[in-house]
Amino acid sequence: MSSLGLDRPVGALKGVGPALGERLARLGILTARDLLNHYPFRYEDYSQVAKIRDIRPGPVTVSGVIEQAAGRWAHTRKLYILEVIISDGTGTLKAVWFNQRFLKAKLIPGSNVVLAGKLEFRGGDMALQGPVIEFSDEPATGRIIPIYPETAGLTSKQISALVAQVLDLTSLLKDDLPEPVRLQHKLVGLGEAVKVLHQPATSQDIAAAKRRMAFEELFYLIVCGLVIKAEVATEPAHSINFDEGIAKDFTGKLGFTLTDAQRTAAWQILQDITRDHPMNRLLEGDVGSGKTVVAMLAATMAWAAGYQTALMVPTEVLAAQHAAKLAPLAEQLGYKLAKVSGKIPASQRKAITATIESGEVSLIIGTQALLSSDVTFKNLGLVVIDEQHRFGVQQRQLLKAKAGYLPHLLTMTATPIPRTLALTIYGDLDVSVMNELPPGRKSIKTKLAGESERKAIYAQVDAEIAAGRQVYVVCPLIEDSDALGFKSVAAEEKRLRQGPFKHRRIAGLHGRMKPEEKDDIMTQFAAGDIDILVATSLIEVGIDVPGATVMLIEAADHFGLATLHQLRGRVGRSEFQSYCYLFMSSQDANGSERRLRALERSNDGFRLAQIDLEERGAGQVYGLQQHGQLDLRFAEIGDVALTSEVRQAAAEFVSKSSNMVQYAGTVKRVNQLKAVTSLD
Ligand code: ADP
Ligand code: MG
Repeated sequence: MSSLGLDRPVGALKGVGPALGERLARLGILTARDLLNHYPFRYEDYSQVAKIRDIRPGPVTVSGVIEQAAGRWAHTRKLYILEVIISDGTGTLKAVWFNQRFLKAKLIPGSNVVLAGKLEFRGGDMALQGPVIEFSDEPATGRIIPIYPETAGLTSKQISALVAQVLDLTSLLKDDLPEPVRLQHKLVGLGEAVKVLHQPATSQDIAAAKRRMAFEELFYLIVCGLVIKAEVATEPAHSINFDEGIAKDFTGKLGFTLTDAQRTAAWQILQDITRDHPMNRLLEGDVGSGKTVVAMLAATMAWAAGYQTALMVPTEVLAAQHAAKLAPLAEQLGYKLAKVSGKIPASQRKAITATIESGEVSLIIGTQALLSSDVTFKNLGLVVIDEQHRFGVQQRQLLKAKAGYLPHLLTMTATPIPRTLALTIYGDLDVSVMNELPPGRKSIKTKLAGESERKAIYAQVDAEIAAGRQVYVVCPLIEDSDALGFKSVAAEEKRLRQGPFKHRRIAGLHGRMKPEEKDDIMTQFAAGDIDILVATSLIEVGIDVPGATVMLIEAADHFGLATLHQLRGRVGRSEFQSYCYLFMSSQDANGSERRLRALERSNDGFRLAQIDLEERGAGQVYGLQQHGQLDLRFAEIGDVALTSEVRQAAAEFVSKSSNMVQYAGTVKRVNQLKAVTSLD
């Protein structure tokens, strides 16, 4: 092996010419290390060979001698049928292939083969249908074969052969997991794990290797969260005293009573901000659970203590919505708020930023524009981030540079992440959960509808519009895609405009429009100047248009329950009865009907999130598996047993400060992760 070791270019391997080298490069495989990091996505287990006498319908592997092999044409030479009989001393078995004529020459009676495939009863015959075949003179028999994704014109077998050339280099892989952790949790070393993943002997070995890899991924992730948490905890912050008179005044002016959940969350937050280290808390509450009021109470407390609060939202529309709703309450309480918009002319903006700098306004609402350089706060004590999971490390640095210190931070989200999961992914945050809605809400009538009901539903939707209500229509795509065949915003808007709703005012909204265009459309819709808004799931976030009473979702099976629940939460915001109709893209191709029926029965976001998690897994539900650098290839964060084991190991690891010096490799990995842990 060359002295370059793991950095050896793949071009130097046997059998890799320019063409193959290019195909490997397309997969991002340039060096031996990259090749070792390219893992099989599944395995075919030839190690469990069954006796023919014992096999049952389903997947089986048998080993035997070819007794006869015969091929014939059927259906006027359109179909070539190849039939083989093998025996293993306990019985005989038939195997059938269609249109695999090239196999015929290889099927020589008397030769040994291993067949792996599905045993099925078809056309009056019990046979292995199109099994994988291994000839005994090939090395693959009687073991587990790794299957690599066959992309970029590379077969699994080719990759396997290349990996075999560099497999010895696994001993050079540096294991950054601290040794005591590895020993205590009985984890195999990195080199061995990687070797096993590429050339396993038993399925137990695979499980142990995967466990090690998953453990490692979670370990770095959780240690990262804990390190950030510890760093934030040492930063100084302004203590905001609890003033009972202010709290009473606030609740008295609300016009409703806080729910128990709001009270508990508010209490946790108000306690946090009395400390002279920054709060870093996540407030999770279902759509409509009343998170804004809780944040407003904290802002009011900050004002009374002489500090400003910044409320950051993802869109201009939301900023306008919050400002309009909160201004009267702030006024009654005795302070002013301002909205910073990216849209207004520079002169106006200057007047507004002047009131922020002078301290004339105590609550400042806006988008990311709040962080731009012309906004100077007089005395920023609290930052609330609405509709996001967390503030990234970089954004926090920016805030610190702006305010001169870290303000208290409250992030609010309507995505109901189960607590244990939140602690894993957002380990740097404390978590408050509001799992209760204010009393007296009308529940939204939800219906999973078939195509045959479409006409009747449209008639009802039209009656709603005639009565002055508004409608959302959600499609999964922006433009048509033949590949997927789902409805798109563009096509659906056109279809509704030309056909069923040609007498109504219709507009489209999607993420590829300019921010100003989107805001214009949303503003018109909020003002009641648009009857039907055809949109992508973009409208998921925080939009509050009380006049909208119908949510109609196309290809609903394309969305997760959590998203559907969020979308549904856009209606049911007034005294009028609201409706949610779910159309499926196909005749339940993915078995999603059962999943969608849960929406008919339940209005509880946390319950729905749980169902979603059980059925689809956390990676799917929260998009974490694909999350860029986070790259959880082995870990399933819904695996409660493993995550809690890792959490414990991580907590133990960070509790001993000398570890941070001793295990430089671990710290380096954590720092790499830290640089990219903005999860939004
Ligand atoms: P979300 O948690 O989805 O952000 P909001 O804060 O927008 O919810 O609250 C939804 C609506 O419920 C608002 O109109 C708000 O004034 C109202 N609300 C909040 N708390 C209560 C309560 N305890 N009782 C009655 N209505 C409430
Ligand atoms: Mg909200």
